[in-house]
Amino acid sequence: MTFLREQSRVDGVPTSVQVSNLPVPRTGRADVHLHTDEVDGLQSVRDLLDYAETQTNLDLVAITDHDAIRGALRAQEIVAHEGLRVQVIAGTEVTTRHGHVLALFVDRAFPMLKSIDATLAAIHEAGGIAIVPHPMSWLTTSIGERNLRRIHALGDAGRDSGVYFDAVEMLNPSVAGRVACRRARDLNQTVLNLPVMAGSDAHATSMIGTAYTTFPGTTPHDLRAAFARHQTRAHGRFWTFGEHRAIASESLYRAWVLVPARKVREIAGRGQKRETRWEEARNQKPEDGSQKPEAGGQRLDAESSHLASGFRLLASFPSPNPAGGDE
Ligand SMILES: [Zn+2]
Ligand SMILES: [Zn+2]
Repeated sequence: MTFLREQSRVDGVPTSVQVSNLPVPRTGRADVHLHTDEVDGLQSVRDLLDYAETQTNLDLVAITDHDAIRGALRAQEIVAHEGLRVQVIAGTEVTTRHGHVLALFVDRAFPMLKSIDATLAAIHEAGGIAIVPHPMSWLTTSIGERNLRRIHALGDAGRDSGVYFDAVEMLNPSVAGRVACRRARDLNQTVLNLPVMAGSDAHATSMIGTAYTTFPGTTPHDLRAAFARHQTRAHGRFWTFGEHRAIASESLYRAWVLVPARKVREIAGRGQKRETRWEEARNQKPEDGSQKPEAGGQRLDAESSHLASGFRLLASFPSPNPAGGDE
């Protein structure tokens, strides 16, 4: 059994050393930003769980499909039923009018295209935590510096009304995360001081765990407590050009052909009934009439063209595979 050494200090000088019988908490690993083919990912829930269980040393994963919760809840059922080693946190990546936000520890999806403030309040009202993914990235819909500073400045008033972030993704290995990584890190260190997270944003199994968060303990509860106590650390590496290219054609095919085709089938009433939050959002009146919600296909087209600019940018980087990124 492992024991914790505790040192009592007086004026910085150790005065005694005692051994307690408290077990040293193991450092857990979590990848809490993952996508499945319930929406635009290339991996099924089953493939994701099998890979995480057998090919990684992750203790926790969170499934965070865009504006959907179904895959995350199904993964939790599978883990409970089969007694897998890896544990699942249910989450979703919400598309707000001001950029994406990750909601973890929730059991439902949230309406798209609300303001970031309304979405943060809704996530906290639902008992979840809110994390800024790929902060300030101009390659995908991201929360920008102005809103990060503004929400930070709300202080206690923001906390009281649920308008606050619980953590920020300091390493997102995609090119979208890479373009703003340094600026986001500087802003967090000098102004925001948010607990850090790293998530792979993996849409395919080979990317799972390329970025991950460590924390004292191993359970979902431990991770949540670690965020609250600023005890998390961000780790990982950026994807190479080859890794981006390997999933690009299938991603684009899925975004342009498969997902829109599925939507057409749903509208026609054929095939399996699936979650249709995109259609719901399209039929909803915008909150303040300022911006028309986009259909899923249009949104994916926009993201794909962002991705294409990302590939061009990535190709121009001097080093194709930088190491590091540890906080
Ligand atoms: Zn995103
Ligand atoms: Zn994502």
